[in-house]
Amino acid sequence: MSADIIDGKAFAANLRSRVADLVPAFRAAAGRAPGLAVVLVGEDPASQVYVRSKHKATIEAGMESFEHRLPETATQDELLALVRQLNADDSVDGILVQLPLPNGIDENLVISTIDPDKDVDGFHVTNAGRLAVGQHGYVPCTPLGCLMLLRDRLGNLSGLDAVVIGRSNIVGKPMAQLLLAESCTVTIAHSRTKDLPAVVRRADIVVAAVGRAEMVKADWIKPGATVIDVGINRVPGAEPGKTKLVGDVDYAGAAEIAGAITPVPGGVGPMTIAVLLRNTLVAAHHRAGVALAADAI
Ligand code: NDP
Repeated sequence: MSADIIDGKAFAANLRSRVADLVPAFRAAAGRAPGLAVVLVGEDPASQVYVRSKHKATIEAGMESFEHRLPETATQDELLALVRQLNADDSVDGILVQLPLPNGIDENLVISTIDPDKDVDGFHVTNAGRLAVGQHGYVPCTPLGCLMLLRDRLGNLSGLDAVVIGRSNIVGKPMAQLLLAESCTVTIAHSRTKDLPAVVRRADIVVAAVGRAEMVKADWIKPGATVIDVGINRVPGAEPGKTKLVGDVDYAGAAEIAGAITPVPGGVGPMTIAVLLRNTLVAAHHRAGVALAADAI
C-alpha cells in the first residue's frame, strides 16, 4: 500500500476540540451558550442513532442541545409550527431537521421554512444560492468536511483537476461548488456520464459520493491522486450473518495507486458532526454579533 491514509477521525476530533475551545469566549461575550436544536420525527432507527450522537457531541462541545421528538403520526403542520417556534427562539442558533421525514411530509417545504441563518445543515435554497455566488452562508456539513480534509492534505487546491462523482444536493453539488471556489477545474460525473473511468483518470482529486459499494476501481485512479470516499455502504461481512461498511471506492486497490485516500469507516464519516458543531458556532457568532476570526475555525 503506497497511499497515505487520511485520518478523518483524528481530524474531526481535533476540529471538535477547537470548536469547544472557542465556546467559553462566546459564552462570555453573548451571555449564553451556542444552541443547536435537532428535530426527529418518527422512529427510524438510523435517524435515532444520528440524533443521539449529535446531542452527545453538542453537549461535549459545551453547547446547548435542544432535542425535539415528534411521533411518526405528526402532521406537516405540527412540524412546520415547531420549526417556526425554533426560528423565533433566540437561544437557538442552529436548526437541524433529521431526514428522511415520514411519508406525507414535504421535505422541501420543511427545509425552506427553516430560517436560512439558522440552517446549519446548509440545505435551504438560500444557502445553496449563497454558496453558488460566493456569499457568506452555511454549507452542507459532509462536503465542507471533505474540503477541510483536502486543504489539510494538499494546501492550495488552485488549478487542480477535481472530479466529483454524484450530483446530489447534499453532497455532490455543494462539493463541486466548494472545489470551484478553490479554483479547481471541476467535473461533476453522474449516472449518465460516458466513460466514467476515463473521466476519473484525469483527476488530481476524486470525490466519490455515489452510494455504490466499491464502484470506483483502482485502475480508474491517476497515480498520486487524492481520493475522498464519501460512500457508506453496508455489505455482507466475512462471517455469515455479519455485515461491514465499505465506501464507493475499492479501497485496497486504490490505496496502491493513490497518493492519499480516506478509509471507510474513519474517513469522511466523522467529519459530518464535527462540521455541524463548527457551523453552529459560526451561526451563534453571526446571530449574536460576536466577532469570530475568519481563520479561527
Ligand atoms: P444520492 O443517492 O442522492 O446521489 C447519488 C449520486 O450518484 C447521484 O447523483 C447519481 O447520479 C450518482 N450515481 C449513481 N449511480 C452511478 C453510477 N453508476 N455512476 C456514476 N454516478 C452514479 O446519494 P448522496 O449524495 O446522498 O450520498 C452518496 C453516498 O454518500 C451514499 O453512500 C451516502 O450514504 C453517503 N453519505 C455519507 C455521508 C457521511 O459520510 N456523513 C453523508 C451523506 C451521504 P444521478 O444523479 O444521475 O442519479
